[in-house]
Amino acid sequence: MNDFSTVIIGGGISGLTCAKYLNDKGMSFVILESSDALGGRVRTDMVEGFRLDRGFQTLLTNYTEARKILNYSNLDLNYFESGALIKANKGFTKLENPFKGKGSFLSTAFSPIGSWNDRLKIKKFAKYVSDMSDEELFGMDDTETIKFLKKYGWSKEIIHQFFRPLFGSIFLDNELHSSSNLFHFVFKQFVKGEMALPAEGIQAVPEQISALISKEKIRLNTLVKGIESNQVFLENGEVLTTDRIIIATDRNTASDFLGEDKNYDYQISTCTYFSAEYSPLKGQKMLTLNPDRKGVAHNLCVPTDIAPTYSTTGRTLISVSAHGLDKIDERNHISRIKRELYDWFGAQVNVWKHLRTYHMPEALVKFPAGTKKQVLKLSENLYRCGDYLAYPSLNAAMQTGREVAEIISEI
Ligand SMILES: Cc1cc2nc3c(=O)[nH]c(=O)nc-3n(C[C@H](O)[C@H](O)[C@H](O)COP(=O)(O)OP(=O)(O)OC[C@H]3O[C@@H](n4cnc5c(N)ncnc54)[C@H](O)[C@@H]3O)c2cc1C
Repeated sequence: MNDFSTVIIGGGISGLTCAKYLNDKGMSFVILESSDALGGRVRTDMVEGFRLDRGFQTLLTNYTEARKILNYSNLDLNYFESGALIKANKGFTKLENPFKGKGSFLSTAFSPIGSWNDRLKIKKFAKYVSDMSDEELFGMDDTETIKFLKKYGWSKEIIHQFFRPLFGSIFLDNELHSSSNLFHFVFKQFVKGEMALPAEGIQAVPEQISALISKEKIRLNTLVKGIESNQVFLENGEVLTTDRIIIATDRNTASDFLGEDKNYDYQISTCTYFSAEYSPLKGQKMLTLNPDRKGVAHNLCVPTDIAPTYSTTGRTLISVSAHGLDKIDERNHISRIKRELYDWFGAQVNVWKHLRTYHMPEALVKFPAGTKKQVLKLSENLYRCGDYLAYPSLNAAMQTGREVAEIISEI
């Protein structure tokens, strides 16, 4: 007799989304998750009274899939101001509303970055991507984002000062080798929605989805060692028999299960948290971007300026991210960040207290031009979901999870 009609291996966003839709259809399943909590890459740790997201992560509120499954008001979302602070030779340049067609960036001749031509092109491009569906955006012939930006006619200045630091920080890819289709997709999210943090940290996203699933259907601290036909082998020696298996793990583990070669390239990200007496940005709810990508502070955010609930003590939380660093020596890394940020903020940096550093060598699977969405149904009893099968984003993890649930529930 089968233990469950469906076994979902992995309780990240894709596995949870799949489970939620199967649950809606009244289907029986169990989620097996190797770690001590659900969420996969979307986790938040409490450290010294601060909520530390594992890496700088935000929810883009226009995500089609997120809007289907999440209740934003219950997440108590806190919004970034539209725009960015760009590190300049002296101080910062503030860009307001770069995508929205109103506000200083588009409407004034004295905008600090880029030419009139750049601004007109942004306006035109914003209109173009707004009218396209996600499927259309990912169905286009693509190239590297950096090549696309140049070909579209944006100036070197705006690429260097704005596009590279912003999209480099989102793709975790300083060189902007990622597909131009991903650029179109993310640009559309900025035009049509907001960037937000849930009051209780990014982990509130998987927690809200998992609250829709009964606890008996979730097994934490349960590592799957392998699969064969309709059997799932657990590390503790247990063997589960099932009608169908859904692999909702990271890409490497999925390849192990399927006996595939593993030579994937990943985007690497390192996020370091500090606490301080007061905000170096003085309460400006903006992401700070560094056009100089040679150092170790590529983007900086003060989560407590956006969502004061990120601190339970009233102190300030600062996150500093760098992308593409192969290996780090933590002490050395912290000193380098402080040396760099001394130039930005002066001596206040010296008294910032280091809280934790997250180094993520496999943060996202690279998404070069030419990458196509992969099949989710491998056989009658074997399926897979996960961001790596579509494109690197929460939206893709949710989409592939929903699509697998729909295929199965139609059988
Ligand atoms: C630093 C960083 C910043 C990001 N920023 C953003 C952002 O701002 N916006 C955005 O949209 N996306 C962002 N992302 C991407 C987003 O987090 C991912 O796209 C999404 O979480 C992927 O979900 P998933 O379910 O596909 O995979 P995962 O989250 O990797 O989930 C896989 C799950 O499988 C489990 N598992 C693995 N092996 C086994 C096993 N053998 N047995 C049982 N369980 C197993 C893992 O523990 C994990 O819980 C970011 C990611 C990182 C790392």
